Amino acid sequence: MDAKNALERRCPRLGGPVTFQYCKECGEDGLPCFKVLDCWWETFDAVAYFKARLTEDQMSRLVHAKPKPKISSLIDLIQQAKKTMKEVTSERSEK
Ligand code: SF4
Repeated sequence: MDAKNALERRCPRLGGPVTFQYCKECGEDGLPCFKVLDCWWETFDAVAYFKARLTEDQMSRLVHAKPKPKISSLIDLIQQAKKTMKEVTSERSEK
């Protein structure tokens, strides 16, 4: 288990606390959030951490990642919420 997973900080995008584990997995394709290096560099050496765990291509994407326009992020969040609702509804109807 990665001891850093339980670290917490306030997320500037969500406005509440998140764990490092969340930050590591909430980006596109399960990759880290595009802001993970900005958000965690003061807590530990986030660049070295991810260099040791990501492929060169993934690291390059992370370093050069740019934020999506807000409308695009909102549409993604709405689609995620719809998908989650569908899954929850489907699970309940199976019981
Ligand atoms: S890395 Fe992303 S999800 Fe994590 S605190 Fe920063 S903005 Fe929020």
